[in-house]
Amino acid sequence: MTNLLIKNVRIIDPGAGTDIKGDIIIRDGVIQPAGAPLEHLTEIDGSTLIACPGLWDAHVHFRDPGNARAETQISGAHSAAAGGFTHVVTMPNTVPAIDTPELIRAQIEADLPVKILPSACISAQRRGLELADLPALVHAGAVALTDDGAMLEDDDLMRKAMLQAKALNSLIMEHAVISSIAKRGIIREGATAQRYNLPVFPPEAEIEAVRRDIRLCQETGCPTHIQHISCAASVGLIRAAQRAGLPVSGEASPHHIAIAVEDIPGDDGNYRMNPPLGNLEDVRAIREGVLDNTLAIFATDHAPHTAETKTNGFARAAFGVVGLETAVGVSWKIMVEEERMPLMDWVTRWTVAPARLLNQPLPSLAAGSTADLVLIDPITPWTVDPDKFKSLSRNTPFTGWKLNARPVLTICGGKVSFNTLLGDYED
Ligand SMILES: [Zn+2]
Repeated sequence: MTNLLIKNVRIIDPGAGTDIKGDIIIRDGVIQPAGAPLEHLTEIDGSTLIACPGLWDAHVHFRDPGNARAETQISGAHSAAAGGFTHVVTMPNTVPAIDTPELIRAQIEADLPVKILPSACISAQRRGLELADLPALVHAGAVALTDDGAMLEDDDLMRKAMLQAKALNSLIMEHAVISSIAKRGIIREGATAQRYNLPVFPPEAEIEAVRRDIRLCQETGCPTHIQHISCAASVGLIRAAQRAGLPVSGEASPHHIAIAVEDIPGDDGNYRMNPPLGNLEDVRAIREGVLDNTLAIFATDHAPHTAETKTNGFARAAFGVVGLETAVGVSWKIMVEEERMPLMDWVTRWTVAPARLLNQPLPSLAAGSTADLVLIDPITPWTVDPDKFKSLSRNTPFTGWKLNARPVLTICGGKVSFNTLLGDYED
């Protein structure tokens, strides 16, 4: 287990509401009180670094089981650790889909450099025809219920799912896209769609889905979380629902706050995701939603794909981008540097806010806690180079981006899970 003295570091601990400069002492993987003995600790100069609880990502796809060439649990976990994450919520759209307690337990029990909090399917095999055994899945440890990758469009079935989820003290996470409105749309309207004759994704496909989910949330009282918001109107609907007291939440992905459809440079499949990148007005509204806490969490929607499914142009590309290893740098650049988001809020969106959403114990740097933390270097410039990713996949729209913030050390469960500071340190 880790034995470290991190000296003179800026410590941001949203659970405690503190932002102070000080030392962090970790012995045998446990955070020690100030004044604890310092013998036999490896020392880190933290004077230019920020320490905060390890980050949480409530939306990742590890392609395991089913597509080990795109990502495995192990490669995904190392990608998460390199991104500063200690907790990730895996989506159930693997092959087979995660719709049995055995599949849930297999993820929870895996010994990895990140803690997996699995979500489970709402419908059996994600077919949208009948419900999976939601009580069994929640009791096995599923932290949320979702058919992510697709929406559960049958109103009656979703109503039943929400009533069960509420009774189980769980929550529904929704990929809010109505397929009959989206049709074959893969990109929002604009010059790129016209130039390459790509089928257009109408924003109503998401907006009407959000409207439907809010209506069912109102009927059932079930906590309802809308994933990867891409439209300005969706942010407005969620804000109004929250003001009316409904338990509706939403997430912002780094790509949806950083890139607009107008920014897509050409026929490049690395800009194809579902829902697609919004226009400039949508990007503005999603940033506003993050700033005013309408969208209380960031989440990457890390979606690895092999090169052959992403490098043959937009029309033939698979949906999705990897995000774990660019999440800190991109969200920092957009929200902290450009939007002047308070640092405490930025850390909260990546830590206690997702933990709270998922009904999990809040991450903390208090003495006596097992060390789950990340050290971030916010000032040394770096350039995104997908060949350096720990992920098995390279499908990012951020290649070549010049960023400042970057995780330099991650500790998960009291053990160093990612390390650029300590040479071949072993704990
Ligand atoms: Zn999705």
